[in-house]
Amino acid sequence: MSDREFHCDTCEGVVLFEAPPCVDGHGADCPELVCTGCGAAVLIATFAFRAPRLDRRRRTTRPPHRQAA
Ligand SMILES: [Zn+2]
Ligand SMILES: [Zn+2]
Repeated sequence: MSDREFHCDTCEGVVLFEAPPCVDGHGADCPELVCTGCGAAVLIATFAFRAPRLDRRRRTTRPPHRQAA
């Protein structure tokens, strides 16, 4: 699994994020992470541990993930 720590604006600190149960069929590849502190903050893991501006191409083999607003 891919538990990670990130800054949560809601918790105002660094907290552990973990992958929530995925309803989109991504399984272990689900890029979503939810804050374990408040349970409300969700981020897309791909932008958290990859350089987004260098990796904006559509060369991924994975289907595009629904982005949180
Ligand atoms: Zn997912
Ligand atoms: Zn939080």
